[in-house]
Amino acid sequence: MSYKIGQGFDAHQLIVSSKPFLLGGVSIDCNFTVEGHSDGDALIHSIVDAILGALNESDIGHHFPSSNPKYKNFSSSEFLLFTKDLLNKKKYSICNIDATIILQKPSISKYRDKIKNNLSKLLEIPVDQVSIKATTTDRLGFIGRGEGIAVLSNILIVEEKA
Ligand code: ZN
Repeated sequence: MSYKIGQGFDAHQLIVSSKPFLLGGVSIDCNFTVEGHSDGDALIHSIVDAILGALNESDIGHHFPSSNPKYKNFSSSEFLLFTKDLLNKKKYSICNIDATIILQKPSISKYRDKIKNNLSKLLEIPVDQVSIKATTTDRLGFIGRGEGIAVLSNILIVEEKA
């Protein structure tokens, strides 16, 4: 069986706003949000890049250029569904995803199950194949100062049996 591994990274600036702050398609309750061209869902963006990397299909900026006005305020869930379709067309399925959200505050622990459930629903994989971890930078750097968020994702995919 042919396995492939993929890695994704995304970072965004956080700004004070009443616009929803989305992670994995789940709205996080706080008084700031992400500065981004689409809806700025850094978790979904990093997972999309991990899938594209595993498929050797370039990156999210190639498929959804921020220069295209079509993607302004675009739902990142749509990016994920497009990428899932590409994965299925190439006859691969997801073994597991492991993502780390790096954010000083708020704590996302109470949202973890909701995020896992939403991603498992969008990707049509069992929830126990989606791991979401969270950490801070101990107040160091731009993330520690609350100026931004970063997310790292890894994925393993396997070629479906003919
Ligand atoms: Zn992004």
